[in-house]
Amino acid sequence: MLEGLMQDYPLTLTHMLERMRTINRDAVVVTLGEHGRTRATFADVAARSDRLAHALRSLGVADGARIGTFAWNNQRHLELYMAVPCSGAVLHTLNIRLAGHQLAYIIRHAEDDLIFVDASLVELLAPLAQELASVRHFIVMGEEEQARAAIAQLPRALHYEELLAAAPDEPFDYPQLAERQAAALCYTSGTTGNPKGVLYSHRSISLHSMASLLRDALGMGREDRVLVVVPMFHANAWGMPHAAALCGADLILPDRFLQAEPLAALIESERPTIMGCVPTIFQDLLRYADTHDCDLASLANAACGGSAVPRALMEAFEERHGVRIFQAWGMTETSPVATYARPAEAGAHDDRYWQARAKQGRALPWVEARIVDADGRALPWDGTSPGELEVRGPWIARHYFREEGSEERFDQGWLRTGDVAVIDSEGFVQITDRAKDVIKSGGEWISSVELENEVMAHPDVIEAAVIAKPDERYDERPLCCVVLRAGVLAERPPEAVAADLVAHLQDRVARWWLPDEFAFVAEVPKTSVGKFDKKELRRRLQEGSLEGRVTTKRPPAAGRADMQEAQAQA
Ligand code: ADP
Repeated sequence: MLEGLMQDYPLTLTHMLERMRTINRDAVVVTLGEHGRTRATFADVAARSDRLAHALRSLGVADGARIGTFAWNNQRHLELYMAVPCSGAVLHTLNIRLAGHQLAYIIRHAEDDLIFVDASLVELLAPLAQELASVRHFIVMGEEEQARAAIAQLPRALHYEELLAAAPDEPFDYPQLAERQAAALCYTSGTTGNPKGVLYSHRSISLHSMASLLRDALGMGREDRVLVVVPMFHANAWGMPHAAALCGADLILPDRFLQAEPLAALIESERPTIMGCVPTIFQDLLRYADTHDCDLASLANAACGGSAVPRALMEAFEERHGVRIFQAWGMTETSPVATYARPAEAGAHDDRYWQARAKQGRALPWVEARIVDADGRALPWDGTSPGELEVRGPWIARHYFREEGSEERFDQGWLRTGDVAVIDSEGFVQITDRAKDVIKSGGEWISSVELENEVMAHPDVIEAAVIAKPDERYDERPLCCVVLRAGVLAERPPEAVAADLVAHLQDRVARWWLPDEFAFVAEVPKTSVGKFDKKELRRRLQEGSLEGRVTTKRPPAAGRADMQEAQAQA
């Protein structure tokens, strides 16, 4: 082999921090607080990250030690994003919405050495603190008074600002890192079994951030202002902070103010061009924008994912508010962005174009995607053959952290995603379900995701989550849990509303997909990362506590064969 003669320059976060300090020094970080906004330049953040690195050294943090964070999206969290990995330790972002026992499990499993916690979140962590033997110190972040009160609730507690004030005001001499070294750790939310740790490397984060900058992905550049609503405690906030550090885009961080009203106010005044969040938050924002006078049109390039993005949501935002939302797909194990839906903009924005926008998109460069059948055979890209989606690439996990026996998730170098999908001839992946949510009716699969999308296109519907209901004859039938617009049930009886929804679905889905039953619920329960919690809905169905149930006239057929029979009889 004739070796190429190019430099072996390591892909590490140290380079990102250097860019924040130099080339991108004037970019701004805005953090929303209780008493207004704080602003800092990237140069300020880099200088404070240096002080933090000094503090970590004085606390005796070892190479590879896991440093927990329990925090909202704010400037201090960004400082930790940089200082911890650059000084050779591993940033372990803890999901603040997990139940206490899950948190305790994760912290023990990772053996966190220190935990940095927002003063506003100390209450959640304090009850566990005594059982967390590996944690040498809890370091409280917040302004003087609030932090003081919080420190009193924790054992072995220190104050972040005091640590920084005591650190030398001089550049930190960062170690030479290897690009394959671990940089960050994030646990999956563990909907089945215990949460599993995904251990990102400097290299994987660097390459993922580069790919985010591509025009056919997030398309972020120096001119952008990026509102990061997706939590920094979940999958590195989709890599947005790293991408901004690389390219010099401004960051706007909403801390704990995630309701539609403060977000809309933040958008109106800061004029972000990019925003990343899950569909449920965009739904809230759309409802708010429809009923209030606010201008959100600076968002020309928002990103949405985490669960399927309803086409109706994207169309409504674009038509009524000039906000453009593009869909991405990924998971904690894929850093997370792996596909992006950017159909060609040239030509008419017709039904075909919108169909492509509503898919999960094409694999990013360096990511390979395939679908396989139950025997592991690759299926054709014909847009109709569903199989399990598998992916591989330089920012896809190859193993879980300290988890022997999880090999079944990996298939000879491919990650088994647990998602069911089809891929069309242009390479667009379309997720039809999570394997565990798919509805098997009369030997056919019904896509709960597609059904939800169609139900959510009805103007009276705010949210819809479809689950399988056990059925004697057909195995399973779809039950559609719906949150209706306020006042709908006061105008019409539930049976009439259900009949309307069935009529609306009639021309949109196959007949055997039509739900036999609706449940008009006050709200769809959500997981710790804001997705529909179908496990909880199934539990309520099983124990008989699912409210507002209305059966519809059984559709004439519940499977393809059944339908053909019915047609033959007719
Ligand atoms: P967890 O697995 O802990 O719930 P993740 O954020 O890792 O959290 O979830 C990844 C899953 O979210 C994917 O496997 C997929 O089922 C779902 N998902 C993410 N983005 C999309 C999307 N655009 N459309 C449909 N499902 C999505």
